[in-house]
Amino acid sequence: MKSPIQSYLETLHRQLAALRGGEVASYIPELTKANPDWFGICLVTVDGVAYSVGDAAQPFTIQSISKPFVYATALADRGLAYVSQRVGVEPSGDAFNSISLHPKSGAPLNPMINAGAIASASMVAGQDATRQWARIAESLGVFMGHDVALDDAVYRSESETGFRNRAIAWMLKNFGIIADEPMAALENYFRQCSVLVDCRDLAFMAATLANGGIHPATGQRALPPEDVERVLSVMATCGMYDYAGSWLYEVGMPAKSGVGGGIIAVLPGRFGIGVFSPPLDEKGNSVRGIEVCKRLSHDFGLHVFNKT
Ligand code: GLN
Repeated sequence: MKSPIQSYLETLHRQLAALRGGEVASYIPELTKANPDWFGICLVTVDGVAYSVGDAAQPFTIQSISKPFVYATALADRGLAYVSQRVGVEPSGDAFNSISLHPKSGAPLNPMINAGAIASASMVAGQDATRQWARIAESLGVFMGHDVALDDAVYRSESETGFRNRAIAWMLKNFGIIADEPMAALENYFRQCSVLVDCRDLAFMAATLANGGIHPATGQRALPPEDVERVLSVMATCGMYDYAGSWLYEVGMPAKSGVGGGIIAVLPGRFGIGVFSPPLDEKGNSVRGIEVCKRLSHDFGLHVFNKT
């Protein structure tokens, strides 16, 4: 017999496939090639059971969904004292590419906006940028449960056009937040954004956070438990950029979106979800992705503050 979760997700997918609206991201030229009809959902429980519907095996670039995981890696590698001096945990209420830096220290307000993510990429362990990239790739791979691959065309496209991010990286150098060569750290950030994932990978990454930092299928620890709590906290308050407040109000789960069209949401102790649908709203969040999470939260009473 088909599981009730699988049937529920199939109905939800069918209904929301009809939802129109939003635009595929175009500021990274290569992303315009995405098909607006692609739509996948995957839910993975903390005991490792995966439920997939639609285009759940369609690869796309992770983009900003990499941010919580690289921030997590920086925390695990350098410790809270070091990282918290260089990246804050305050929601900025600003767009993902805003230059939201603390006026005195220059520390980015949080690790979910680009400034904080570029700073995080510069802080992971490794004596030089090449070794730091190896560390980022290895860490993302543990969260995913397999080795990572890059979409080279998207990486090059962003590297060739990412002037705003270049300006942000130089600002971080100006304030001493990035210790070494800022352009090398920035290239690692562009690389991490170009990592290929599908909904299943995202759901396993989210489920690893839901499961206290242990990948539910491989059993490998991706992150110490105390860092899981920190990462979920910044996802809850900052993961959806200038939509973060409404998101917590309406959906009530730690989450992260990316301009590739992906969204992850985490219900601690229960499951992780990965949704993929490229058309984005004006804040850069997947239109269908938001709707899937709203419906799931509402239909099953999943809001983290709902304990009745
Ligand atoms: N690579 C993208 C950028 O830096 C990521 C943005 C996002 O997914 N919101 O602009």
